[in-house]
Amino acid sequence: MADSVNQSLANNKMVADMLQFPRRTFLLGSLFATIAPAVASAASSSTRLILLGTQGGPNFSLKRGETASMLVINDQPYLIDCGYGTLRALLESGVNYLNIGHVFLTHLHDDHNADLPALLGHQWTQGRIKPTRVFGPYGTDKLVQAVNLYNQANTEIRMVDEARSLQPKAMFAGTVVKAGAEPVAVLRNGDVTITAIENAHYPAEAKAKIPHRSLAYRFDTADRSIVFSGDTAYSDNLVKLAHGADVLVCEAIEKEVYRAIYDKRVANGAYADNPEGVWKHIIGTHSSTEDAGRMAAAAGVKTLVLNHIIPGDIDDSVFIASARKAFGGEIVVGKDQMVL
Ligand SMILES: [Zn+2]
Ligand SMILES: [Zn+2]
Repeated sequence: MADSVNQSLANNKMVADMLQFPRRTFLLGSLFATIAPAVASAASSSTRLILLGTQGGPNFSLKRGETASMLVINDQPYLIDCGYGTLRALLESGVNYLNIGHVFLTHLHDDHNADLPALLGHQWTQGRIKPTRVFGPYGTDKLVQAVNLYNQANTEIRMVDEARSLQPKAMFAGTVVKAGAEPVAVLRNGDVTITAIENAHYPAEAKAKIPHRSLAYRFDTADRSIVFSGDTAYSDNLVKLAHGADVLVCEAIEKEVYRAIYDKRVANGAYADNPEGVWKHIIGTHSSTEDAGRMAAAAGVKTLVLNHIIPGDIDDSVFIASARKAFGGEIVVGKDQMVL
């Protein structure tokens, strides 16, 4: 591949050194100033953000799919998370899923990767022959191997019946991104520099028992810098990663409004094994809308895009009022198929 895909682990240090925070933003600004105007209007922008799925999950409705976002950078698609409904949302967005060669998973909760077997399986069946790299935290390599195994019967049948020769395992591989409290380089090519940091989705007690981790990503292109929070409680690391960015795509939950909805669900039989344990997870490992506003303000971003919305069916004004308590910049309440 032309790009220097995760030589990241070899190149991490070099790129991370070059991109030291907090000076990083200014360095990037001056770096890119030579090749593009510092501020580009949306009309002339070569970087488009498309929200494919905006429902906080695991959950989905007919209006909101599970989490997925797309960056189209100089006509190249980069998929961030791949929750249930992503493939259909891609079709609706007009982005050809056969062209997706880079997927970035923030973490391995199923509302962020449920459509990965569908995406990779259909890419292979429909005839993509270039590699698709899936980046993500601990377990991402095994996850992609499992996807290939999930699709193995399909592969075996079609390789015989359709005389095909390319094995999915030769195309699809997962790359584990090891990130801590400082940004690390994930991928860099002529269009984009992608960095990651560990966010605050998993509490210390959980992390002591499991190797799983959760990530936020930053994409710096010639005309924009866009950060994806992933799922996270208030995170100083995320603030560091998002410093000076144009756009922070951040999860948001209206906890008090959602509690009443949650109680009704429990009364109807949901979360029957431990409703208070699940509630503790919900409020302890996610950001309230006000937290999202606080992080956006602390990072000094221009625009806050609320994503992974919970609940997904209340008026935008509720979210805007909560985020506005701390953040004076532009606030956008994300919706499926919104283009920014
Ligand atoms: Zn989630
Ligand atoms: Zn999660």
